[in-house]
Amino acid sequence: MKKALPFLAVAFSGFLVYLFDKIWGDSINWEKVKSVKIGDWISTEFSFRVYEVLLFIILVSIIYLLGKKYLNRDSYYSKKQKKLRQFNNVIDNKTNILFRWGVYFDYDKPFIADLDAFCTKHEGPPLRFVGRNCPIRDCENHRINIDEYMVKNHIESDLIDRWEKMK
Ligand SMILES: [Zn+2]
Repeated sequence: MKKALPFLAVAFSGFLVYLFDKIWGDSINWEKVKSVKIGDWISTEFSFRVYEVLLFIILVSIIYLLGKKYLNRDSYYSKKQKKLRQFNNVIDNKTNILFRWGVYFDYDKPFIADLDAFCTKHEGPPLRFVGRNCPIRDCENHRINIDEYMVKNHIESDLIDRWEKMK
């Protein structure tokens, strides 16, 4: 991304010049601009152009800021929703199974999606379940069968309770 930035900046400034020319190009007499002496530059016409350029910059800034705001998914959620969304994992102490999920909202009702189970009984990062159990054959969690629907219901019940208490 860092390497792409100078290119983007050049592309963007080129785009601005293009837009500027497209919008005001016809109304500017470039031959006249080229022929005026420096002293004449501080003329009413020039100050009028400065005003137009400023207006153009302000407009572009507003469009940029609005786009940034809507593209930033984080600001899509309210403060309370963001807090509840942080409850997105739990470890079952009996089995050492780690559950991870994402919290979303159906209007004002929280629900979870992307529920994944991981076995934490092995070295390295938690190992994701394949199907309903741990993929390591001699692991205790290989012999169990997690019921995803029941786990989901359990987590969502907890989530709804937290949500109600936050209100
Ligand atoms: Zn395991």
